[in-house]
Formats: sequence, structure tokens, C-alpha cells
Amino acid sequence: MAATTVYKEPAPRVDAENPLESMMSRFNVATEILGLDDETYNVLKAPDKQIIVHIPVTMDNGKVRVFEGYRVVHNTILGPSKGGIRYDKNVHLDEVKALAAWMTWKCAVVDIPYGGAKGGIICDPTTMSAGEIERLTRGYTLAMKDVFGPDRDIPAPDMGTGPREMAWLMDEFSKTVGATSPAVVTGKPLVMGGSLGRTEATGRGVMVSALAAMKKLGMDPKQTSAAVQGFGNVGSWAAKLLSEQGVKIKCISDVSGAYWNENGINIDEAVAYKNVHKGRLDGYTGATLMDNADDLLTSEVDLLVPAAVEDVITEHNAHDIKAKLIVEGANGPTAASADPIINEKGIMVVPDILANSGGVTVSYFEWVQNRQGFKWSEDMVTERADRIMNEAFEKVYATSQKYNIPMRIAAYVVAIDKVAQTYKFRGGF
Ligand code: NAD
Repeated sequence: MAATTVYKEPAPRVDAENPLESMMSRFNVATEILGLDDETYNVLKAPDKQIIVHIPVTMDNGKVRVFEGYRVVHNTILGPSKGGIRYDKNVHLDEVKALAAWMTWKCAVVDIPYGGAKGGIICDPTTMSAGEIERLTRGYTLAMKDVFGPDRDIPAPDMGTGPREMAWLMDEFSKTVGATSPAVVTGKPLVMGGSLGRTEATGRGVMVSALAAMKKLGMDPKQTSAAVQGFGNVGSWAAKLLSEQGVKIKCISDVSGAYWNENGINIDEAVAYKNVHKGRLDGYTGATLMDNADDLLTSEVDLLVPAAVEDVITEHNAHDIKAKLIVEGANGPTAASADPIINEKGIMVVPDILANSGGVTVSYFEWVQNRQGFKWSEDMVTERADRIMNEAFEKVYATSQKYNIPMRIAAYVVAIDKVAQTYKFRGGF
């Protein structure tokens, strides 16, 4: 690392709400702190490859619809690329590029031997039948058969996809290579090579890094209140595991709205409710529906966990945030334009590439188990994942102290430094 201690705030940009711009603006600040040479900068800044495919799918009404899908491999310097596949009507290439780069930095922060990638298909899975989604998933897998592979590029679930889609992907890929290939994808169902502890891994990592941050800030979990945005895989597990640590979850939300209970929400009850209501909280009576769901972000709580979508914390609402600590379960929930405001207010942020890396860590364990042909116990998974999360947190925290920079930039510095050093050793370009 270059011995500079100068920290320059990323300049607010008009287009900072584009996640790719947000990612690049932090990347630029971190590379400046590292004093990265132009050659390495140029190698790291752009994705290795971007694949756009058009997938014809016979819909249930007999008509063929063509879906656009992407896979962006950002970087493979540390190892085969790793990253989820998102099914959503708002997927766009810049978003996938940002998410792919975040995967590179995330894997480097937690020191696992993967590069970064991400995939997405523009579709609305909530309006499609299981058969249509299966045909779409198999079509996408076939289109990507030369990209995916246990030693090349290993997909996983993201928003709109889960174990079911990963099972279809594994099956379709296995057919193309003529052999069962469980290590081609992670996040599979437990019965077909999935790992114990994977479902809750991201939320657990959010809890572990929140506890580590609270310790640094002298916050007692039992005296801490929290708001969690998003009540899907990450948000509901983070809320549950934080509440088990004594944190009072006063507010939760999903697409149906935000729900507030001054005395704390019973998270097990809320999870049970959403499980029998198509995964949604509509009509949940254990808390009061707020007039404006966005008020969750600026509510009177000590800890804020955005665990839904990108760019929810912006220059427009950052001034009003009351929380002392933000732990980012989602990828890219804070636009770069909000960074200077948050830093000015002295709020500690455990950034996405650190806080939500428990998911990819246990995905890595799943891949290792598939290759070993040996299943680990849940205790082994949890103990190893918690250790990795705590070590990564301490490394990022120490870097933020050393350079007097916010945790977010420190995480980029740790990640980019590791990838850049590996690039120097590998060379040969
Ligand atoms: P999910 O589909 O299981 O859940 C998303 C939740 O967010 C749902 O409850 C949905 O209703 C809610 N939501 C959507 N838009 C919202 C809005 N505008 N306001 C409030 N709530 C909203 O998805 P997930 O797997 O929990 O992923 C959430 C985020 O975490 C994404 O950014 C994803 O990339 C990131 N992430 C997920 C994992 C993982 O292992 N699942 C790992 C790392 C990062």
C-alpha cells in the first residue's frame, strides 16, 4: 500500500444513483489511496467479459417469448468467478456490471479464492408459472454452457431465484457435460449437494458484523434498537439473528410497506406470517403499518440494516438518518452521493462487500464440500464462517484506522490491494 493518509471524499455525481457509477466512484477513491499504477487500474476497472443472450421460451399459452439475459464476469485473478443470478423486471446491464465487480471485491475482502461475476434475466418471476421459470432457467443455462463451470464461473441465487432454480441449472449443465456436476452452482437444495447453513448465511454474517461494529462503538446489543429494510432471505434472517442477540427490532419492511412496533417486533411470528402469505407481510398485525415505507430509513433506531435493493440511501434522505450504525445486507443500498453526508454525521457503515459476504463464504464452503464429496456439519460451517467474517471485519477496521478512512473505502482498499498484489504475481498479460 502507498503510505498516503489523504482521504478524498468521492465527489457527488448527478448520476450517482446508477450502481455502476456508485461502485466506480468508491473504486477510484480506494485506488488513489493505494497509489495503484495505471496498468493495474486499467486491468481491474473493466469487466473481463459481458455476455448478452436472448432466450426463447415457450410460455404456457403456447406462444414463444424471448427473454434477455446477462452474465458479466468482472475478474478472475483470484480464481473462478462467483456470483448470483437475478430474475427481475428491472435488471439492466449496468446493474449487473456493478454487482459483478462487487463480487470481486467481496471475495477478496473475505479472502476466498474466487473472482467476481453476476447474472440477470429481465423477467417478472412473480407472474410466471413454475414451468415457464424452469424452461427459462434451462434455456439460460444452455446459453451459458461455455461460461459456467466448477473451475470457470460458478453461479448462485440472487433476488428472484433460489434453490429450485439452482437445481434446474445444475441438472441442465450436467446434461451438457455428460456427468453430474454439483460444484457448478451453489445455493442448491440440501438433498442435492447444498450446504447446511447456506440459507441463513448472509443474514448471519450481517449479525456477526453488526455485533463486531457495536463492540467497537461501545453499543450493548441488549440496549440497541434496529430497523431492517427487506424481509426476504437476508432481511428476515438478519432480523431474527439480531433479535436473538437481544437487539430490539422496531421496524421491518418489504414491498408491501414498513411495519413499526415501539416495543419490538416478534420476528419468529413475522417470519411465520410471511411464510403463509406468499412471502409477504401484507396485513401483518404484530406492528403498525407506517404511512411512508421510506420513513424506515430515517426512523428513531440505533442500527439500520438495509437488506432489500440498491440506492435507497441517497443524498436526499441521508441527512435525516438517526442510526449510529448502518450494516448493509443488500448490495449497493447506499448511493455514492450519500457517502459524504453519512461520514460527516459520524455514522459507522459496515459496507455491503463486507457485511453481506457471509453468503458467498458459505457458497464457497458448498463448492469445497461438493469437490471433496464430503458433507460438513452445521457447526463446522457456522464456526468457520463466523471466524472468516470476524477476521475480515478486523482487517477492514484496522485499515480504516490506519488510513483514517471510512469503513467502506477501507473495504475497497483491502480488496483491491489483494487483487492487485495477486495480479502482480500472476502477470503474463
Ligand atoms: P429476496 O428476494 O429474498 O428478498 C428481497 C426483500 O426485499 C423482499 O422482502 C422484498 O419484498 C423486499 N423489497 C424489495 N423492494 C423493496 C423496497 N423498495 N423496500 C422495501 N423492501 C423491498 O432477496 P435477498 O436474497 O434477501 O436479497 C436482498 C439483497 O441482499 C439484494 O441486494 C441481494 O443482492 C443482497 N444479497 C443477497 C444475498 C443472499 O445470499 N441472498 C447475498 C448477498 C447479498
